Amino acid sequence: MSEAVAVIHDNRLRAIRRRHPWVFSGAIMRLDGDPAPGDLVTVTDGAGEFLARGYWNPHSDIRIRLVTWCEDESLDEAFWRDRLSRAIAGRHVENRTHDLGTANAYRLVNAESDGIPGLVVDRYGDWLVVQALTLGIAERKDMLADLLVELLSPAGIYERSDVDVRQKEGLAPETGVLRGEAPPELIEIDENGRRFLVDVRQGHKTGFYLDQRENRAIIGDWFRSDERASQRTVLNAFAYTGGFAVYALGSLVKRVINVDSSAEALALARRNVALNGYRTDDDDFVEGDVFQVLRYYRDAGQQFDMIILDPPKFAQSPRQVENAARGYKDINLMAFRLLRPGGLLATFSCSGAVTADLFQKIVFSAVLDAGREAQIIRWLAQAPDHPVALTFPEGGYLKGLLCRVW
Ligand code: SAH
Repeated sequence: MSEAVAVIHDNRLRAIRRRHPWVFSGAIMRLDGDPAPGDLVTVTDGAGEFLARGYWNPHSDIRIRLVTWCEDESLDEAFWRDRLSRAIAGRHVENRTHDLGTANAYRLVNAESDGIPGLVVDRYGDWLVVQALTLGIAERKDMLADLLVELLSPAGIYERSDVDVRQKEGLAPETGVLRGEAPPELIEIDENGRRFLVDVRQGHKTGFYLDQRENRAIIGDWFRSDERASQRTVLNAFAYTGGFAVYALGSLVKRVINVDSSAEALALARRNVALNGYRTDDDDFVEGDVFQVLRYYRDAGQQFDMIILDPPKFAQSPRQVENAARGYKDINLMAFRLLRPGGLLATFSCSGAVTADLFQKIVFSAVLDAGREAQIIRWLAQAPDHPVALTFPEGGYLKGLLCRVW
């Protein structure tokens, strides 16, 4: 049976020609053929001219995920091996540039931006953790797992396809061992010479916020050459398993207070701090809601030399941007008020729907309302193992500002 053909409306051709990988249902004028969910379909214009090929999902608003714009490229196993190899090869070079330890935890495949829509592969030591975020990938999971074994010989591959976006693809959550040995309960990784325990089964995302690796080094090491480091107090809000804390403690600051609403995350944060040889005082691990804890510090008159705000995604979709903006403004406003003159605010948003430009405006309006002055010292983004294809700006979701406050 020949491949089904999706014919695109004239006014929707531009995005496809510009190699954007998503074809929404509304762009399709007509479907010739009867593709099964996950099958490859050919995409043409009204005159039948070839545009691209991709996988079909009748359950998703993103009806087709495009993988090639070359008519004569056959999408066989060699094609997928080639895409995976290219992604993996890139990482080995990129990681060398800031490899302070024996980095063994990073993203190997970043979905659309690596030309494999919906496939995430993260390395944690000898294990790979994969997420199949689209039906097209879910259908090809076994072949891709075999290729990963062939290319990387991991001790095992663990699947963490338990993410909300799967619902939009009509997929139920799936987790478990795909190949090889089951990972240990906690995998120890080396990140820029720091040690972390990662729970790839229960942890957020695939277990660790790998996208913040570079920012942890930049911000966590900030006080390293500061002769007054030992007097500095850092507030690590939304601490998760203590990533920023371990770095900051390494620059010999007086104290890092970690705040998170998850008791499990904080328990692991404590273990990670201890694993790196630093003291763990009960007062430095605060289980609570950052919105409330910041107000508590304001009422108590507590001041900090650095505050890190790395909240979860406040906007899940463009419709939630307004509410998210209020949330971001609220915590940033309070953080500005809690900083000593000359102090630093490292503030992030991982909401793709909140652009870098909008985020900067939100932080600006927060500083105005806080009655403080601030300068941007650095613009921050996701680490280079989370590349953004130029054809797919949606891939850039993490943005941050490092501000000095007066
Ligand atoms: N900075 C971390 C990642 C932070 S992820 C790192 O580098 O590893 C966001 C964290 O915020 C999660 O651990 C989540 O449990 C926590 N969280 C979400 N909402 C919260 C709230 N209202 N108050 C406190 N913590 C919250």
